[in-house]
Amino acid sequence: MSNDLKKAAAAATDTNAPASNFLRGLIEADLASGKYANRTDPNGNVLPSVITRFPPEPNGYLHIGHAKSICLNFGLARDFGGRCTMRFDDTNPTKEEQEYVDTILDAVQWLGFDWKDDQGDHLYFASDYFDQMYFMAEYLITAGHAYVDSQSAEDMAKNRGSFSEPGKNSPFRDRPAEESLALFRSMKAGEFKDGEHILRAKIDMASPNMNMRDPAIYRIRHAHHHRTGDKWCVYPMYDYAHPIEDAIENVTHSFCTLEFQDHRPFYDWLLERLAEGGFFKKPLPVQTEFARLNLTYAITSKRKLLQLVEENIVDGWDDPRMPTIVGIRRRGYTPESIQLFCERIGVAKSDSWIDMSTLEGALRDDLDAKAPRAVAVLRPLKLIIDNFPDNLVDECKAPVHPHHPERGHRTFPLTKEVWIEEEDFMEVPTKGYFRFFPGNKVRLKYGYVVECTGCDKDENGKVIAVHCNYFADSKSGTEGSANYKVKGTIPWVSVQHALEAEVRLYDRLFTDPNPDAGGKDFKQSLNPNAKEVITAYLEQGMRHALPDEKFQFERHGYFVADRVDHSATKPVFNRVVTLKDSWGK
Ligand code: ATP
Ligand code: MG
Repeated sequence: MSNDLKKAAAAATDTNAPASNFLRGLIEADLASGKYANRTDPNGNVLPSVITRFPPEPNGYLHIGHAKSICLNFGLARDFGGRCTMRFDDTNPTKEEQEYVDTILDAVQWLGFDWKDDQGDHLYFASDYFDQMYFMAEYLITAGHAYVDSQSAEDMAKNRGSFSEPGKNSPFRDRPAEESLALFRSMKAGEFKDGEHILRAKIDMASPNMNMRDPAIYRIRHAHHHRTGDKWCVYPMYDYAHPIEDAIENVTHSFCTLEFQDHRPFYDWLLERLAEGGFFKKPLPVQTEFARLNLTYAITSKRKLLQLVEENIVDGWDDPRMPTIVGIRRRGYTPESIQLFCERIGVAKSDSWIDMSTLEGALRDDLDAKAPRAVAVLRPLKLIIDNFPDNLVDECKAPVHPHHPERGHRTFPLTKEVWIEEEDFMEVPTKGYFRFFPGNKVRLKYGYVVECTGCDKDENGKVIAVHCNYFADSKSGTEGSANYKVKGTIPWVSVQHALEAEVRLYDRLFTDPNPDAGGKDFKQSLNPNAKEVITAYLEQGMRHALPDEKFQFERHGYFVADRVDHSATKPVFNRVVTLKDSWGK
């Protein structure tokens, strides 16, 4: 291979190299032109030239789609030496709760990101800006850019027009600014009921973009807010609040999902008007849209996820089958694997589906290098080594990690009776079967070569034990072992020493790759085998496993000690993912 080719190949497989994407390109261009250079905050501190934000609404648990947004916003800020603000978009009083704020902060930190930098702690709540937002609204009224509309909700909807038809001006559109201002103040003072009046931007009722047809910017809502209490009974609309939040936080690049594309003209219109009013300095933040993450075999709608929880289809928000961040964390995903996944999928300008195997692949690639190995027998069948001395406990030795000898060895005892996998014995072998069958020799992995002699059956003909004899001079790692050539190597654990554990075998929650596409009922394609609970036998050292610790159970896949239910006295392990992608095969 030529040197250049080698370099290219290395770059293509270097998982640390940030994948190029159009958002990255956009930031690079702005940095090159110095667009956001030399801005200062009110204290005269120079602001970073790249400021992004992650702006969740605290109304539910975050899912893998939000993880993409987190990795993108925090990741780009990190890569360009900028800042990402952590902002709760809590402008909607009725749906938001502190519980959600806490779990969201926890999720962002778990993913490996931080909202603090040397200029401060950039954790913000949109509700902290309510005074400013209100003040700006009064300005817009005075400047002739907003008015109080007193039409009924029905008339307002009717006069909005449609995609093919322009809207009609409200009869209140031209009321004097002083009148609107007085009404707006009365709205704030609590003199009206919900819906009696509404504040609208004055733009263009004939605009082909419905979002520009005098959008509502403040509404009356007599509701308690989780942070501001009963101080307010008027609340800003999302489209009004969001650009202001961005501008207050000196955001440079406001990345959002594609459904906000048609909202961008209003975003720009509003900030221009407020810049004219002296509220913000140019250059203003710019909104750019990217494709949301759709993951096959999963759903990423908060509402539908809530349905799974409320109807007890899953065991809560952190059920390891859930695509929530708390769910995939409990399942055994690592933050590094999620970051790797987000880098690999990059960002696109149009919606598409990412295959679940890409997420699972990132997890395997991350854990393969890290996870210590262990033996687990999931479907146990007893093997009796008839010529093994009754009380002999023979230590066997295996590497902690086959590619990292520096991580040392683990030992586990071989005894007369061991557990092997049910599938490792066949009384009548099929072609190409090299494991236990009468007359065949195999190696007990890290132990001795044994020859199968037969089996015991119960009255129904079910095999209940397998018999063999061992060759005392054949132990792995001794000279004699070279004299034995066998085709099968079988994992096992000592019956006497094994750690009995509950093992939860998780799989994909849906059998349909696009469970909710096109309005399909996702409950029709629930995978009945997405959770199987079994009792398994593990090598004895596993009794020291700590909650959240991950392992590769040889042959079976990656497993994690459940962070909620696992304890030394009641071990519980979750299957994160199998060793190979065998879905549907
Ligand atoms: P809601 O319908 O409740 O608004 P949401 O999924 O939009 O739900 P937000 O809390 O508003 O939730 O989202 C926070 C951020 O995460 C937003 O910037 C949003 O664009 C982004 N986001 C949400 N879902 C995805 C997704 N599937 N892929 C990428 N980004 C997403
Ligand atoms: Mg949203």
